[in-house]
Amino acid sequence: LSAAEVYRQKHEVTATGDNVPAPFMTFEDTGFPPEILHEIHFAGFSAPTPIQAQTWPIALQNRDIVAIAKTGSGKTLGYLIPAFIHLRRRQNNPLNGPTVLVLAPTRELATQIQDEAVKFGRSSRVSCTCLYGGAPKGPQLKELDRGADFVVATPGRLNDILEMKRIDFRQVSLLVLDEADRMLDMGFEPQIRKIVNEIPPRRQTLMYTATWPKEVRKIASDLLVNPVQVNIGSVD
Ligand code: ADP
Ligand code: MG
Repeated sequence: LSAAEVYRQKHEVTATGDNVPAPFMTFEDTGFPPEILHEIHFAGFSAPTPIQAQTWPIALQNRDIVAIAKTGSGKTLGYLIPAFIHLRRRQNNPLNGPTVLVLAPTRELATQIQDEAVKFGRSSRVSCTCLYGGAPKGPQLKELDRGADFVVATPGRLNDILEMKRIDFRQVSLLVLDEADRMLDMGFEPQIRKIVNEIPPRRQTLMYTATWPKEVRKIASDLLVNPVQVNIGSVD
């Protein structure tokens, strides 16, 4: 067995797709910029979690991923760090709209993602804007107008802002759907589809879900192109 296969067996990682790269078993394996590695060491983490170890090398190849892993497995940094690297490579003007868009089901989750993005994105100079319902639109629109390269949003509020033509998705080249199963359970599928219709099809799409029912499989097959599927733990 190769070291990659031993790692996958030990951590119950299944990865299905074309030429799946070996997991990054250590942070040093990642080749992340030193400033990002510094933030990780500062947080006191000793090794990538299995979902990070297997999805990071795939994400850095600009490929689509559907990742199925339970809560608490470290999915947020699993997409945030590739997103920071994506932003550094693009160097788009944030005044022309976001480059990275993360969709999450609730305000609470969206603000948690923003907090993690601020913490780990400091060295990448990420300006993260968070858009969610249950709060006035004015301040959120003002923040958008100041320039936002990284937007975290709930589908309802983002779709409202889209319909007001106050956000431009032409630069979006990385789309993340976090807790996709929960977003569908909450009835956000129409808003998600309207949003995705405005994003250029030549993009990278990363989808995270805790469960894998047929509704989630359907939206994955509609939105992702030749994804690698990564499961942690038992495959249902
Ligand atoms: P999920 O989205 O899969 O539910 P989170 O991304 O919220 O999980 O991560 C759960 C917790 O684990 C967070 O407190 C996060 O900071 C922490 N964490 C993330 N990556 C690592 C790591 N490599 N080692 C230790 N802790 C980590
Ligand atoms: Mg999460």
